[in-house]
Amino acid sequence: MGMHSAPNCTIMISYQEFSDNAKRVCERLQNACAACGRKAEEVSILPVTKFHPADAVLYASKYGFSSVGENRVQEAEQKMPLCPAGIKWELIGHLQSNKAASVVEHGFYRVQSADSEKILKKLNDALENRRPNADNLHVLLQINAGADPAKFGADLSGASALMDYALSSCPRLAVDGLMTIAPLDENLDVAERCFENLRRCAEALRTDFGLPLPELSMGMSADMERAVRQGATIIRIGTALFGEREKH
Ligand SMILES: *Cc1c(COP(=O)(O)O)cnc(C)c1O
Repeated sequence: MGMHSAPNCTIMISYQEFSDNAKRVCERLQNACAACGRKAEEVSILPVTKFHPADAVLYASKYGFSSVGENRVQEAEQKMPLCPAGIKWELIGHLQSNKAASVVEHGFYRVQSADSEKILKKLNDALENRRPNADNLHVLLQINAGADPAKFGADLSGASALMDYALSSCPRLAVDGLMTIAPLDENLDVAERCFENLRRCAEALRTDFGLPLPELSMGMSADMERAVRQGATIIRIGTALFGEREKH
């Protein structure tokens, strides 16, 4: 998929529209925090630029966001040369093990979708072998906290083993916390149960491993309020910022 065919390039909204959207998302975040007694500064918004052209990243950067989320390594790699050097790239989609080295070589800041021992090992080894002097790679362990057969991620029951593996065998990875994707369901209570499961899982891991594990990445455009209520520290927002994506 070269830049020329660009199947992932939907027509972009204007910067003004983006900026209005961003204000609305910030307001939603403030209201959600106020409703549960949290401070808005505790939660960061990760703009999700997947399926949008590099302009989406430029908009996010201009508005003041410091990171963007991408689903696929290859798509991010195409945009990186067109984007400001200071922006941090976070992978939020499933990572195939043959792409792990590429993530490391392209200097992704964090992989939110670290979902198996195999991928943790590949990332750790790629860092050791290819970028021995680089900073450690940040990761979140992706947990299938909604037990959704359509989602990647370790089972809740396997979270402790995955954490243990990361700590014992992956010295080049820094585990910042956990990530989950809620099952698609019109009833937002389903998403909220998933988020509650992730919060409880993180609480148990903090106790068992004596680690801060500060980050909980959960909640998207439709369910961010529920995620905030359950303790999200990162919400991943695509549609509410950039408009509808083309379906793939
Ligand atoms: C696409 C995507 C998002 C953003 O979803 P929206 O509903 O457009 O906000 C968040 N997280 C992940 C993992 C995604 O793939």
